[in-house]
Amino acid sequence: MRAEIVSVGTELLLGQIVDTNAAYLSKLLPEFGITLHYRVTVGDNEARLAEALRLALSRSDLVFTIGGLGPTEDDLTKETVAQVVGDEMVLDEESARQLREFFAARGIEMPKSNLKQAMVPGRGRKLPNPLGTAPGAAFETQDGKVIIVLPGPPREFIPMVNERVAPYLRERLGTRSGIIKSRILRVAGLGESSVEDKVKHLLKNANPTLAPYAKTGEVHLRVTAKAATISEADALIDSMDREVVGVLGDHVFGRDEETLEEVVVKSLVEHGLTLSLAESCTGGLIANRITDIPGSSDAFLMGVVSYSNQAKMDLLGVDEQLLIDHGAVSEEVARAMAEGARMRAGSDIAVSVTGIAGPTGATPTKPVGLVYVALSAENGTVVQKCQFGGSRLDVKLRTSQTALDMIRMHLIHNAT
Ligand code: AMP
Ligand code: MG
Repeated sequence: MRAEIVSVGTELLLGQIVDTNAAYLSKLLPEFGITLHYRVTVGDNEARLAEALRLALSRSDLVFTIGGLGPTEDDLTKETVAQVVGDEMVLDEESARQLREFFAARGIEMPKSNLKQAMVPGRGRKLPNPLGTAPGAAFETQDGKVIIVLPGPPREFIPMVNERVAPYLRERLGTRSGIIKSRILRVAGLGESSVEDKVKHLLKNANPTLAPYAKTGEVHLRVTAKAATISEADALIDSMDREVVGVLGDHVFGRDEETLEEVVVKSLVEHGLTLSLAESCTGGLIANRITDIPGSSDAFLMGVVSYSNQAKMDLLGVDEQLLIDHGAVSEEVARAMAEGARMRAGSDIAVSVTGIAGPTGATPTKPVGLVYVALSAENGTVVQKCQFGGSRLDVKLRTSQTALDMIRMHLIHNAT
């Protein structure tokens, strides 16, 4: 089955928002054996939308539209789809009642224009929207093609796709077309070429396939399986997963959406260990990433952003002589920062970072991207010297990746 996505909205064409909805839907379709051939973006213009829809119907069996279901003049997707497929819209009493209740509950009179949101296809069907006032719809053409109309706001779009579109597709397509499923294996602590080199023998595999993608501070390996059923695909993916872990070992830190900070917080909590941070060049980024994770308060005690030399002395007890002798960006100062943070916070583990994020601040002996990351624990302090490339933000992000991965590795090898 060939599908096409038509994203509707002038703001998309102007680059004011990014089409995250289309990306979300694109990722889901292979699971139903649906091949996406085209993704089209069109502005809020009736004639051009109609043209895009006619073209989509001429080359695809299934068309999705995203956006343009609001009550205002420029929201015209449903009306245009109805006109292109030759369907009459009818008022859906249930949706109309929900709309009236929505406004009544807020103590405001419903603007007349809102009622158009309760119009549904005469021939197709309504796809109820659990989180918004505008239901989606599945229109059908005379020759059995389908146009699925979905709302634009991501907080409505994503539940609609999960709760309405996926069951609809399952019902319509069954498992006859076979499925394609993917899993991302996330790798830290190794560069892209080194990962590629180690898994070279697996990259030629036909099913499942394995493909590497370089990300900032980590590498993703995408495993993609084709099979008749989800469970067959899962079995193929599991066996490739084991092969990759057999080669890369602990460097595989997570799967799919799992982040490094999630894994680190989970592991700290599981081990009942506490963490403190002393950050210079990352300006609190590591603390921010840690505290993005619910439950981090069980493990995270303190983060100090000690940017100036004075702050390193006052807040962490770094010896002034160390700063004079070695400079703030040095192995010695990184070590003293981590040990100072650990002592002051009374944490089991402390990590410090100090480096030159650039683009200015380099010296003949200390280039941009030079960063020291130290980890102090009961059994001593280790310091890692790193040389990162990229922009200021790249250096900050890569530094935070290294720091988080150092904590993760420390827990794997030292905590029981
Ligand atoms: P609309 O349904 O076109 O009125 O869009 C409502 C809101 O949803 C817009 O203001 C956007 O912020 C958001 N939106 C619309 N289309 C998309 C899309 N394809 N991806 C992400 N957000 C979107
Ligand atoms: Mg719009």
